Amino acid sequence: MKQIHNFSAGPAILPQEVIQNCSEALQNFSGTDLSLIEVSHRSKEFVDVMDEAQDLVKKLMNIGDDYEVMYLQGGASTQFLMVAMNLLETKAAYLNTGTWSLKAIKEAKHFGVIEELASSADKNFSYIPKDFTIGSDYDYFHCTSNNTIFGTQLHDFPSSPVPMICDMSSDIFSRKIDFSAFSLIYAGAQKNMGPAGTTLVVVKKEILDKVSRYIPTMLNYNTHIDKGSMFNTPSVFAVYGCLQTLKWIDSQGLEEIENYNNQKADLIYSEIDQNDLFEGTTAREDRSKMNATFILKDEKLNDSFLNACNEANISGIKGHRSVGGFRASMYNAMRVESVQVLVDVMRNFK
Ligand SMILES: *Cc1c(COP(=O)(O)O)cnc(C)c1O
Repeated sequence: MKQIHNFSAGPAILPQEVIQNCSEALQNFSGTDLSLIEVSHRSKEFVDVMDEAQDLVKKLMNIGDDYEVMYLQGGASTQFLMVAMNLLETKAAYLNTGTWSLKAIKEAKHFGVIEELASSADKNFSYIPKDFTIGSDYDYFHCTSNNTIFGTQLHDFPSSPVPMICDMSSDIFSRKIDFSAFSLIYAGAQKNMGPAGTTLVVVKKEILDKVSRYIPTMLNYNTHIDKGSMFNTPSVFAVYGCLQTLKWIDSQGLEEIENYNNQKADLIYSEIDQNDLFEGTTAREDRSKMNATFILKDEKLNDSFLNACNEANISGIKGHRSVGGFRASMYNAMRVESVQVLVDVMRNFK
Protein backbone atom coordinates (compact mmCIF):
# COMPACT_ATOMS: atom_id res chain seq x y z
CA MET A 1 0.00 0.00 0.00
CA LYS A 2 1.28 3.47 -0.80
CA GLN A 3 1.04 6.16 1.84
CA ILE A 4 -1.88 8.51 1.23
CA HIS A 5 -2.05 11.89 2.93
CA ASN A 6 -5.69 11.82 3.97
CA PHE A 7 -7.18 15.30 4.33
CA SER A 8 -10.78 14.05 4.20
CA ALA A 9 -13.31 16.07 6.24
CA GLY A 10 -15.14 12.99 7.51
CA PRO A 11 -15.14 10.06 7.83
CA ALA A 12 -11.54 10.94 8.34
CA ILE A 13 -8.04 9.91 9.23
CA LEU A 14 -7.56 7.71 12.30
CA PRO A 15 -4.34 6.68 14.04
CA GLN A 16 -2.66 3.64 12.45
CA GLU A 17 -2.68 1.77 15.75
CA VAL A 18 -6.45 2.27 16.04
CA ILE A 19 -6.96 0.73 12.61
CA GLN A 20 -4.58 -2.08 13.54
CA ASN A 21 -6.44 -2.82 16.79
CA CYS A 22 -9.81 -2.74 15.01
CA SER A 23 -8.50 -5.15 12.36
CA GLU A 24 -7.30 -7.57 15.01
CA ALA A 25 -10.61 -7.39 16.90
CA LEU A 26 -12.47 -8.17 13.66
CA GLN A 27 -10.61 -11.49 13.66
CA ASN A 28 -10.40 -12.24 17.36
CA PHE A 29 -12.13 -9.93 19.80
CA SER A 30 -10.65 -9.76 23.27
CA GLY A 31 -9.46 -13.38 23.25
CA THR A 32 -12.95 -14.76 22.51
CA ASP A 33 -11.87 -16.37 19.21
CA LEU A 34 -14.91 -14.62 17.76
CA SER A 35 -15.10 -11.51 15.62
CA LEU A 36 -16.03 -8.21 17.26
CA ILE A 37 -18.96 -7.99 14.84
CA GLU A 38 -20.41 -11.40 15.74
CA VAL A 39 -20.49 -11.30 19.53
CA SER A 40 -23.41 -10.28 21.71
CA HIS A 41 -23.38 -6.70 22.85
CA ARG A 42 -24.42 -8.16 26.22
CA SER A 43 -21.24 -10.26 26.47
CA LYS A 44 -18.95 -9.31 29.33
CA GLU A 45 -16.22 -8.46 26.84
CA PHE A 46 -18.34 -5.89 25.03
CA VAL A 47 -19.95 -4.47 28.17
CA ASP A 48 -16.40 -3.79 29.35
CA VAL A 49 -15.68 -1.94 26.09
CA MET A 50 -18.78 0.23 26.50
CA ASP A 51 -17.99 0.99 30.15
CA GLU A 52 -14.42 1.91 29.41
CA ALA A 53 -15.40 4.06 26.43
CA GLN A 54 -17.74 6.02 28.72
CA ASP A 55 -15.26 6.32 31.58
CA LEU A 56 -12.45 7.52 29.31
CA VAL A 57 -14.61 10.34 27.99
CA LYS A 58 -15.21 11.51 31.56
CA LYS A 59 -11.52 11.26 32.34
CA LEU A 60 -10.45 13.20 29.24
CA MET A 61 -13.13 15.84 29.86
CA ASN A 62 -12.28 16.00 33.53
CA ILE A 63 -15.96 15.86 34.49
CA GLY A 64 -17.64 14.12 37.40
CA ASP A 65 -20.58 11.88 38.12
CA ASP A 66 -23.05 14.72 37.57
CA TYR A 67 -22.57 13.94 33.85
CA GLU A 68 -23.73 10.94 31.81
CA VAL A 69 -21.97 9.66 28.69
CA MET A 70 -23.92 7.99 25.86
CA TYR A 71 -23.04 6.36 22.55
CA LEU A 72 -26.09 6.77 20.32
CA GLN A 73 -26.97 6.30 16.68
CA GLY A 74 -28.46 8.63 14.08
CA GLY A 75 -25.45 10.93 13.85
CA ALA A 76 -25.02 14.47 15.09
CA SER A 77 -27.96 15.24 12.81
CA THR A 78 -30.34 13.36 15.13
CA GLN A 79 -29.00 15.41 18.05
CA PHE A 80 -30.28 18.55 16.33
CA LEU A 81 -33.79 17.35 17.16
CA MET A 82 -33.10 15.33 20.32
CA VAL A 83 -31.57 18.34 22.05
CA ALA A 84 -34.66 20.44 21.42
CA MET A 85 -37.15 17.65 22.09
CA ASN A 86 -35.55 16.86 25.47
CA LEU A 87 -34.65 20.38 26.61
CA LEU A 88 -36.74 23.04 24.90
CA GLU A 89 -39.89 24.09 26.74
CA THR A 90 -40.38 27.70 25.62
CA LYS A 91 -37.43 29.37 23.92
CA ALA A 92 -33.75 28.78 23.20
CA ALA A 93 -30.86 30.85 21.84
CA TYR A 94 -28.70 29.69 18.91
CA LEU A 95 -25.46 31.04 17.48
CA ASN A 96 -25.59 30.71 13.71
CA THR A 97 -22.13 30.03 12.31
CA GLY A 98 -22.93 27.95 9.24
CA THR A 99 -24.52 24.91 7.67
CA TRP A 100 -24.57 22.74 10.79
CA SER A 101 -25.90 25.50 13.05
CA LEU A 102 -28.63 26.19 10.51
CA LYS A 103 -29.63 22.55 10.45
CA ALA A 104 -29.77 22.51 14.25
CA ILE A 105 -31.97 25.63 14.23
CA LYS A 106 -34.28 24.19 11.59
CA GLU A 107 -35.02 21.10 13.68
CA ALA A 108 -35.33 22.95 17.00
CA LYS A 109 -37.94 25.34 15.62
CA HIS A 110 -40.52 22.57 15.73
CA PHE A 111 -40.29 22.43 19.52
CA GLY A 112 -40.37 26.07 20.60
CA VAL A 113 -39.22 29.59 19.84
CA ILE A 114 -35.67 29.85 18.53
CA GLU A 115 -33.83 33.15 18.68
CA GLU A 116 -30.72 33.54 16.56
CA LEU A 117 -28.56 35.55 18.93
CA ALA A 118 -25.99 36.30 16.28
CA SER A 119 -25.13 35.13 12.78
CA SER A 120 -22.28 35.39 10.30
CA ALA A 121 -24.55 34.69 7.32
CA ASP A 122 -23.91 38.26 6.08
CA LYS A 123 -20.35 37.29 5.07
CA ASN A 124 -20.97 33.70 4.02
CA PHE A 125 -20.02 32.40 7.51
CA SER A 126 -16.40 33.47 7.16
CA TYR A 127 -16.11 34.65 10.77
CA ILE A 128 -17.43 33.99 14.28
CA PRO A 129 -19.80 36.64 15.64
CA LYS A 130 -18.66 37.78 19.09
CA ASP A 131 -20.79 40.76 19.90
CA PHE A 132 -23.74 39.21 21.71
CA THR A 133 -24.88 38.45 25.21
CA ILE A 134 -26.98 35.53 26.33
CA GLY A 135 -30.08 36.46 28.33
CA SER A 136 -31.10 34.39 31.33
CA ASP A 137 -34.61 33.65 30.08
CA TYR A 138 -33.64 30.93 27.59
CA ASP A 139 -33.94 27.20 28.21
CA TYR A 140 -30.45 26.83 26.74
CA PHE A 141 -27.84 28.33 24.43
CA HIS A 142 -26.56 26.27 21.46
CA CYS A 143 -23.36 26.73 19.48
CA THR A 144 -21.15 24.80 17.03
CA SER A 145 -17.53 24.76 18.18
CA ASN A 146 -15.97 24.12 14.79
CA ASN A 147 -17.56 24.85 11.44
CA THR A 148 -16.30 21.96 9.37
CA ILE A 149 -17.55 23.33 6.06
CA PHE A 150 -16.61 27.01 6.34
CA GLY A 151 -13.39 26.52 8.32
CA THR A 152 -14.04 28.71 11.36
CA GLN A 153 -13.73 27.76 15.02
CA LEU A 154 -14.73 29.21 18.37
CA HIS A 155 -11.42 29.80 20.13
CA ASP A 156 -13.26 31.14 23.17
CA PHE A 157 -16.69 30.24 24.39
CA PRO A 158 -19.12 32.84 25.74
CA SER A 159 -20.10 32.66 29.37
CA SER A 160 -23.68 31.56 29.52
CA PRO A 161 -26.18 32.08 32.33
CA VAL A 162 -28.25 29.20 30.88
CA PRO A 163 -27.15 25.63 30.03
CA MET A 164 -24.62 25.76 27.18
CA ILE A 165 -24.97 23.08 24.51
CA CYS A 166 -22.36 22.46 21.88
CA ASP A 167 -22.03 20.48 18.67
CA MET A 168 -18.35 19.48 18.86
CA SER A 169 -18.47 16.97 15.99
CA SER A 170 -15.38 18.18 14.22
CA ASP A 171 -13.05 19.32 16.98
CA ILE A 172 -13.82 17.15 19.98
CA PHE A 173 -10.66 16.25 21.93
CA SER A 174 -8.52 18.41 19.66
CA ARG A 175 -7.61 20.83 22.45
CA LYS A 176 -7.77 21.43 26.15
CA ILE A 177 -10.95 23.27 27.08
CA ASP A 178 -13.13 23.54 30.16
CA PHE A 179 -15.68 20.86 29.32
CA SER A 180 -17.50 21.49 32.60
CA ALA A 181 -18.71 24.83 31.18
CA PHE A 182 -21.11 22.82 28.99
CA SER A 183 -24.34 21.13 30.02
CA LEU A 184 -24.54 19.01 26.89
CA ILE A 185 -21.93 18.13 24.29
CA TYR A 186 -22.52 16.00 21.23
CA ALA A 187 -20.30 14.80 18.42
CA GLY A 188 -20.65 12.43 15.50
CA ALA A 189 -17.67 10.11 15.97
CA GLN A 190 -16.46 10.08 12.38
CA LYS A 191 -14.46 13.32 12.37
CA ASN A 192 -12.06 13.13 15.26
CA MET A 193 -13.12 10.26 17.50
CA GLY A 194 -13.53 7.04 15.61
CA PRO A 195 -15.38 5.26 12.81
CA ALA A 196 -18.78 6.43 11.54
CA GLY A 197 -21.81 4.87 13.18
CA THR A 198 -21.99 6.28 16.67
CA THR A 199 -22.53 9.69 18.23
CA LEU A 200 -21.15 10.76 21.57
CA VAL A 201 -23.54 12.62 23.86
CA VAL A 202 -22.42 13.94 27.25
CA VAL A 203 -25.10 15.50 29.41
CA LYS A 204 -25.31 17.03 32.84
CA LYS A 205 -28.16 15.16 34.49
CA GLU A 206 -29.66 18.20 36.20
CA ILE A 207 -30.85 19.72 32.89
CA LEU A 208 -33.08 16.75 32.04
CA ASP A 209 -36.75 16.21 33.02
CA LYS A 210 -37.72 19.85 32.55
CA VAL A 211 -40.04 19.60 29.53
CA SER A 212 -43.70 18.68 29.56
CA ARG A 213 -44.06 16.94 26.18
CA TYR A 214 -44.06 13.18 25.61
CA ILE A 215 -40.65 12.10 24.32
CA PRO A 216 -40.63 8.89 22.24
CA THR A 217 -38.59 6.16 23.93
CA MET A 218 -35.69 6.05 21.47
CA LEU A 219 -35.37 9.85 21.41
CA ASN A 220 -35.40 10.24 25.18
CA TYR A 221 -31.97 10.68 26.78
CA ASN A 222 -33.23 9.01 29.95
CA THR A 223 -33.81 5.76 28.07
CA HIS A 224 -30.19 5.54 27.01
CA ILE A 225 -28.79 6.76 30.33
CA ASP A 226 -30.85 4.21 32.28
CA LYS A 227 -29.65 1.36 30.05
CA GLY A 228 -26.02 2.45 29.70
CA SER A 229 -26.42 3.01 25.91
CA MET A 230 -27.63 -0.59 25.61
CA PHE A 231 -31.40 -0.08 25.41
CA ASN A 232 -31.09 -1.46 21.90
CA THR A 233 -28.11 -2.86 20.04
CA PRO A 234 -25.34 -0.26 19.97
CA SER A 235 -22.92 0.16 17.04
CA VAL A 236 -20.44 -2.31 18.46
CA PHE A 237 -17.75 -1.75 15.87
CA ALA A 238 -17.94 2.05 16.05
CA VAL A 239 -17.89 2.09 19.85
CA TYR A 240 -14.88 -0.23 19.85
CA GLY A 241 -13.12 2.08 17.39
CA CYS A 242 -13.90 5.08 19.60
CA LEU A 243 -12.43 3.30 22.61
CA GLN A 244 -9.20 2.65 20.70
CA THR A 245 -9.02 6.30 19.63
CA LEU A 246 -9.77 7.55 23.15
CA LYS A 247 -6.94 5.39 24.49
CA TRP A 248 -4.62 6.86 21.89
CA ILE A 249 -5.70 10.40 22.86
CA ASP A 250 -5.27 9.59 26.54
CA SER A 251 -1.77 8.22 26.00
CA GLN A 252 -0.69 11.57 24.56
CA GLY A 253 -2.77 13.97 26.62
CA LEU A 254 -4.95 16.78 25.32
CA GLU A 255 -2.24 19.39 25.85
CA GLU A 256 0.19 17.52 23.61
CA ILE A 257 -2.52 16.99 21.01
CA GLU A 258 -3.39 20.68 21.07
CA ASN A 259 0.25 21.70 20.60
CA TYR A 260 0.60 19.33 17.67
CA ASN A 261 -2.63 20.60 16.08
CA ASN A 262 -1.40 24.19 16.46
CA GLN A 263 1.86 23.27 14.74
CA LYS A 264 0.00 21.79 11.76
CA ALA A 265 -2.39 24.74 11.50
CA ASP A 266 0.49 27.26 11.66
CA LEU A 267 2.27 25.42 8.87
CA ILE A 268 -0.64 25.45 6.41
CA TYR A 269 -1.90 28.94 7.20
CA SER A 270 1.51 30.53 6.88
CA GLU A 271 1.82 29.01 3.40
CA ILE A 272 -1.67 30.25 2.48
CA ASP A 273 -0.65 33.74 3.62
CA GLN A 274 2.79 33.76 1.95
CA ASN A 275 1.90 32.15 -1.35
CA ASP A 276 0.25 34.78 -3.52
CA LEU A 277 -1.56 32.20 -5.66
CA PHE A 278 -3.73 31.30 -2.67
CA GLU A 279 -6.06 33.06 -0.30
CA GLY A 280 -7.69 32.01 2.97
CA THR A 281 -11.48 32.28 3.06
CA THR A 282 -12.00 33.05 6.76
CA ALA A 283 -11.18 35.80 9.25
CA ARG A 284 -7.69 35.17 10.62
CA GLU A 285 -8.63 35.23 14.28
CA ASP A 286 -11.38 32.65 13.71
CA ARG A 287 -9.45 30.19 11.58
CA SER A 288 -10.15 26.55 12.33
CA LYS A 289 -7.25 24.39 13.46
CA MET A 290 -9.10 21.37 12.09
CA ASN A 291 -10.33 22.46 8.66
CA ALA A 292 -8.28 25.03 6.74
CA THR A 293 -10.31 26.47 3.85
CA PHE A 294 -8.65 28.33 1.00
CA ILE A 295 -9.03 29.18 -2.66
CA LEU A 296 -6.83 29.76 -5.67
CA LYS A 297 -7.20 33.42 -6.66
CA ASP A 298 -7.35 32.23 -10.26
CA GLU A 299 -10.07 29.58 -10.33
CA LYS A 300 -8.88 28.37 -13.72
CA LEU A 301 -5.94 26.75 -11.95
CA ASN A 302 -8.15 24.59 -9.71
CA ASP A 303 -7.95 21.42 -11.78
CA SER A 304 -4.21 21.53 -12.27
CA PHE A 305 -3.70 22.12 -8.53
CA LEU A 306 -5.90 19.12 -7.76
CA ASN A 307 -3.82 17.08 -10.19
CA ALA A 308 -0.62 18.15 -8.45
CA CYS A 309 -2.16 17.08 -5.13
CA ASN A 310 -3.15 13.71 -6.60
CA GLU A 311 0.36 13.13 -7.84
CA ALA A 312 1.68 13.73 -4.33
CA ASN A 313 -0.81 11.17 -2.92
CA ILE A 314 -2.87 13.88 -1.25
CA SER A 315 -6.52 12.95 -0.97
CA GLY A 316 -9.70 14.70 0.20
CA ILE A 317 -8.54 18.27 -0.42
CA LYS A 318 -11.47 19.47 -2.52
CA GLY A 319 -13.69 22.02 -0.70
CA HIS A 320 -17.26 21.26 0.32
CA ARG A 321 -19.67 21.51 -2.60
CA SER A 322 -21.42 24.48 -0.96
CA VAL A 323 -18.23 26.55 -0.65
CA GLY A 324 -15.88 25.41 -3.44
CA GLY A 325 -12.12 25.92 -3.33
CA PHE A 326 -10.08 23.67 -1.09
CA ARG A 327 -10.24 22.35 2.42
CA ALA A 328 -7.43 20.66 4.30
CA SER A 329 -8.89 18.76 7.23
CA MET A 330 -6.18 18.07 9.79
CA TYR A 331 -7.73 16.03 12.55
CA ASN A 332 -5.74 14.68 15.50
CA ALA A 333 -4.28 11.70 13.65
CA MET A 334 -2.94 13.80 10.75
CA ARG A 335 0.86 13.88 10.79
CA VAL A 336 2.70 17.18 10.44
CA GLU A 337 4.75 15.47 7.70
CA SER A 338 1.58 15.14 5.62
CA VAL A 339 0.79 18.84 6.03
CA GLN A 340 4.37 19.55 4.92
CA VAL A 341 3.75 17.51 1.75
CA LEU A 342 0.73 19.70 0.96
CA VAL A 343 2.68 22.88 1.69
CA ASP A 344 5.47 21.68 -0.63
CA VAL A 345 2.94 21.04 -3.39
CA MET A 346 1.55 24.57 -2.95
CA ARG A 347 5.08 26.02 -3.13
CA ASN A 348 6.07 24.02 -6.16
CA PHE A 349 2.80 24.91 -7.83
CA LYS A 350 3.65 28.57 -7.49
C1 LIG B 1 -20.32 16.30 10.16
C2 LIG B 1 -21.00 17.22 11.11
C3 LIG B 1 -22.35 17.03 11.50
C4 LIG B 1 -23.20 15.91 10.94
O1 LIG B 1 -22.85 14.72 11.50
P1 LIG B 1 -23.64 13.36 11.13
O2 LIG B 1 -23.08 12.43 12.14
O3 LIG B 1 -23.31 13.04 9.72
O4 LIG B 1 -25.09 13.62 11.33
C5 LIG B 1 -22.89 17.90 12.40
N1 LIG B 1 -22.19 18.92 12.92
C6 LIG B 1 -20.90 19.15 12.57
C7 LIG B 1 -20.16 20.29 13.17
C8 LIG B 1 -20.28 18.31 11.65
O5 LIG B 1 -19.00 18.53 11.29
